Amino acid sequence: MRADLHIHTTASDGIFPPEAIVAMAKEHNLNVIAVTDHDTTSGISGAQAAANDLQITFIPGVEISAGGDLEIHVLGYGINPDAKSLKTLFSAMQDERIMRTKAILQRLEQLGCPLDSEAVFASAMGVVGRPHIARAMVEKGYVPTVQDAFRKYLSKGKPAFVSREKLDTAHVIRILTEAGGVPVLAHPTLLNMPQEHLLPLLSQWKDAGLMGIEVYHPTQRGAFDSWRRLADRFGFLITGGSDYHAPDRADGPLGGVAADWQTAENDIQHLQTLIGHALQ
Ligand SMILES: [Zn+2]
Ligand SMILES: [Zn+2]
Repeated sequence: MRADLHIHTTASDGIFPPEAIVAMAKEHNLNVIAVTDHDTTSGISGAQAAANDLQITFIPGVEISAGGDLEIHVLGYGINPDAKSLKTLFSAMQDERIMRTKAILQRLEQLGCPLDSEAVFASAMGVVGRPHIARAMVEKGYVPTVQDAFRKYLSKGKPAFVSREKLDTAHVIRILTEAGGVPVLAHPTLLNMPQEHLLPLLSQWKDAGLMGIEVYHPTQRGAFDSWRRLADRFGFLITGGSDYHAPDRADGPLGGVAADWQTAENDIQHLQTLIGHALQ
């Protein structure tokens, strides 16, 4: 089995529309995929229909950013994309992202990098975010690459960084559960946290309903086994995916961890059982 359970589309900050991503998944010989856009479920129906046509097993997903400046990403699998709890959360988050994007653009202007705000918003078909600003900066020639835009301006501690409002992780986990989803902690290595800080958080989040950890993520290459052991210790489900956004990102290609994820078949069966339970 070749699986990729972490994929972004134009519904958030990926550059390929849902239908195109599914066609690409077919070319990469993936049998099971999940579309997990940031803070929206609007890409799911298009991807689901395309996956049905191409006979790829499709799991509806989402990736919600919690935690404020320390970005904690929680994946939700098997969610009902129309759940009221999600819609309410996403519309509040969208308002906040618009405010934040405007604040970042203002800072950039003060720093001598003015951007056409309307064009930035228009380039985001769904959820607007820093990647859209970064791409606009590259187009304007302010920086050579998207990564440079983050490194010099947009990352935490850099001059155009604007804090996010804090969203409690346990709250996000409960909302995903309410929406019929299986909550999974995305790419824990990106939390950049020593184990002694992470372990008590994992216990708390487990109490709130967290059911899994994303072990097979490109940033965790070389440490898959240690993340597996941690997942086992908590009785967590194991998932994996490429976190694919665009060809110009460091994340690697679509399906990029499929070959590493040897236990995908069992793990996905486990996930599907949990999704089945959540539906009842
Ligand atoms: Zn993420
Ligand atoms: Zn992601």
